This record gives sequence, structure tokens and C-alpha cells, in this order.
Amino acid sequence: MFELLPLLNKNGGFLWDSLIAFENGNLINVSVALAAGVALVGELEVMSYNFDIICFKHCDDRSIFCREIPGRCPVCSEVLTDFSQTPFQLPSPFSNGTDKPTSVIIKPSSGIFLDTCYTPENDLHIGIVDSKGRIFEYDQRGLVFNDLSNWRHCISLDPRVPESWYEHWDKIIIDLSRNPQWNQSNYHPLEFNCFDFVLEFIKNLGCNDFYYGSKEDICRDLIIPRMRESLRYISIHNNLRETNYYIP
Ligand SMILES: [Zn+2]
Repeated sequence: MFELLPLLNKNGGFLWDSLIAFENGNLINVSVALAAGVALVGELEVMSYNFDIICFKHCDDRSIFCREIPGRCPVCSEVLTDFSQTPFQLPSPFSNGTDKPTSVIIKPSSGIFLDTCYTPENDLHIGIVDSKGRIFEYDQRGLVFNDLSNWRHCISLDPRVPESWYEHWDKIIIDLSRNPQWNQSNYHPLEFNCFDFVLEFIKNLGCNDFYYGSKEDICRDLIIPRMRESLRYISIHNNLRETNYYIP
């Protein structure tokens, strides 16, 4: 069904260390095939949005978030020489999908979480990463394999599946991706979409520690808890776009 070919650059070397997939002779991994130019633009976009957030406390119990530690405390105006809480970098909830093997990954259906136009009402897209960091997803293009540029900035949901399950995880996702039902013409934005693909994967996996019977269960138990903490980070990040410090 699928013919997987290494993507070659002009000099004959592997590009992005990735594969492109052909289905019945048609290239389906379009954005990876567009390769260097597109991927580089995506990388630059993510970098320009993505600054580190530092957190510290000084004279009261409030956390002060900043891009760079200011010379004076924004609360009491004293010159900052010591802190009641030592500055630390706020851990980002976002990562490169391929860096988180054996996971479920989510991102906005279009754009990235740190886009200025992102709101919690935006639709989410969901995909699966196998134990080798290869990404499988289902969208209006059909089954898409290893579109790495699409997942440089996503939230990884760790299913906490034991390591002894990794081989089975890979077998199930490869078997599932070979099923012809995941084609373009079956795709429906509401009735048959990326969540159906992930739900089917979870059912086929059959792991008691990682089981969800419906899309609603996936949302409530797997996605929403991680989205809550991520939305807090997004809110702080948005408040720091135009200014150096922010006190919630
Ligand atoms: Zn102070």
C-alpha cells in the first residue's frame, strides 16, 4: 500500500533524515517533500514566537514573570540583588513531536499554540509517535507519515505505557496506517477525523493503563488536564510579548 522512500537532496544525501510516503504512486507527505525551504520558514516562525520565560519572587509572595531579569524589582523598585525565590526558567509545555517517542501529540489544526491568533476554542489536531520518533496522523490529506515540519511545536501527551509495550505500539500503528479506510475521501472534519484515527489506535493497542473508549474520554482525561497547564503558559507568554515583565 505504501512505498516509503528516503527523501534525497540535490547532492544525493538524505534530507531531514526523513521518509516520504507514496500511496498508489501519489505523494502524500507533501510538506516534507517541499523540504528545505518550507521547513526552514516554519522553524524561523517558531523561533520568533518562542522566547524563554523566567520566573522569580522578590518582596512579596507574587511570582514575577519576565523575559530578562530587570535591574529593579517591578513591585518595590529596589535594585535586585537577592530574591525570595531564585529565578528559574519556566518549563515550556511545547516540544518537537519527533523528540517524544511513544506518545500522542496535539497541536492546533492550523498554526501553533503561541500564535497571536490562537485561542482555546481553536480546533486541535492529534497524531501518534512511534518508538522511533516517527509521526503518523490522519487529516484531509489522508494518512500522513512523518510530516515533521507540521509537528515542531506541539504538546506531547505521555501515555505512560510500559517500555515492554513499545514494540507492540509500533506494530499496531503500522498495521493501522496500512488500513485503506484512512484515505482522503473518507475524511470528514467532524465525523471521521484525526481523533477517530487515534481512538482506533488506542482500542487496537489494548493496553489497560492507556485506554479510552470514546473521543470524549480522550479529551476529558488525556487532553484537557495538559491543556490547562499549557494555557497558563500561553497566557503568560502572550502577556510578555510587548513588555519585559508580567505579574498575574
Ligand atoms: Zn520587590
